[in-house]
Amino acid sequence: MNFIKKIFKSSNVEFSGINNKENGFAIDGLSKAVIEALRDGIIVYDRDSKILVFNKAAEKIFNLNSEEIIGRSFSPNDIKESKLKILIQTLFPSLAPAIVKHSESNVYPQIVDISFEEPKIEIRVATNRIGDSKGGIFGFVKIINDRTRELNILKIKNEFISTAAHQLRTPLTAINWALESLVRESLTENQKPIVETGLQASSHLLKIVNDLLDVSKIEEGRYGYNFEKINLVDFIEGVIKKVEEIAVPAGIKIYLKKPAGAIETDIDVQKMEIALFNLLDNAIRYNVKNGEATVSIERLKDKPYVQISVKDTGIGIPKEDIKKIFTKFFRAENAVKTAANGSGLGLYMVKNIVKRHGGDIWIESEFNRGSIFYFTLPLDSKLIPAKEIADEEEA
Ligand code: ADP
Repeated sequence: MNFIKKIFKSSNVEFSGINNKENGFAIDGLSKAVIEALRDGIIVYDRDSKILVFNKAAEKIFNLNSEEIIGRSFSPNDIKESKLKILIQTLFPSLAPAIVKHSESNVYPQIVDISFEEPKIEIRVATNRIGDSKGGIFGFVKIINDRTRELNILKIKNEFISTAAHQLRTPLTAINWALESLVRESLTENQKPIVETGLQASSHLLKIVNDLLDVSKIEEGRYGYNFEKINLVDFIEGVIKKVEEIAVPAGIKIYLKKPAGAIETDIDVQKMEIALFNLLDNAIRYNVKNGEATVSIERLKDKPYVQISVKDTGIGIPKEDIKKIFTKFFRAENAVKTAANGSGLGLYMVKNIVKRHGGDIWIESEFNRGSIFYFTLPLDSKLIPAKEIADEEEA
């Protein structure tokens, strides 16, 4: 973004309408060639929405000729002209059918994803201001990244995973059921460990297949959320009660630090239970003998959010692995040694569930000492995103 800004500032030759000497804006031949060669669409317009730059990539994305666009001022009303519809919705995203904002209002660059149905186009638009020499605003630059092909490939990949996981699930469920029945039979000393090992392996496999199905739904944006207002404190107490069933046999004590009174939030109860269960399950599995896990709930003082943390006294996460921990299939070496079974998909799901609720998630951990997983949830339902979208990985 700054690069484009610099181009405008340092140039002095006319380029497609940018020759505003008053504001010190003009552009030289080299800068023009660079802008034309960019793979991203570039649109520059002044405060009156008069288009000054419309490069080749923009022509391709919007199926428009720069000659008919440059020099023209656009308003939301121009949406009526059918060939301009997508351009107008990009210039005025509030008119677009489906948008996902990646930046807060009034923070520049503004980043927004826009999806169009007919024709099917997926773009990411970064909008930045161009200042004038008097400290005011001369206009704006939009950098448009066409993600249609990329997202289509992702969709095909997800469909493949989802179909494969569906096909695997039916026979696996039958095998699991058969082994569960067998383990309850009177078996000989020799038979018992064999059947138990088989049951453990089939349960693990079934969990991976179910997680894969959930992940493919998340990535296609069809995990399906139903929000309802609940008392978060009661909800968390309920989940802890269920988790006790695995914590007690593992010898791990779970504590809850809760505020006085209720905390009302809008959540998808089923999905949030999956998230919290995953965090607590990890706090138990990656703990030490006779270890502890503590769940804390607190309202943040200066923000309309509640913060939940899950702290354990376990094996911790090696420093170099912390940033990879929310990526799909990642398992740290110390975790693999402690608990051989695991898919590495749990935290990816947890992160997506929290983000879909409008919250954030992060970790503090000390190797061999323990970890704290923090996440926030908004107290105001307006802060919940309007659309389901998979959180991209930052590996
Ligand atoms: P899984 O537990 O099936 O491996 P997750 O996605 O839940 O998958 O976790 C990914 C990895 O993050 C784990 O394999 C482990 O390396 C690390 N991890 C998660 N929770 C903890 C924890 N409480 N303590 C230490 N490491 C953890």
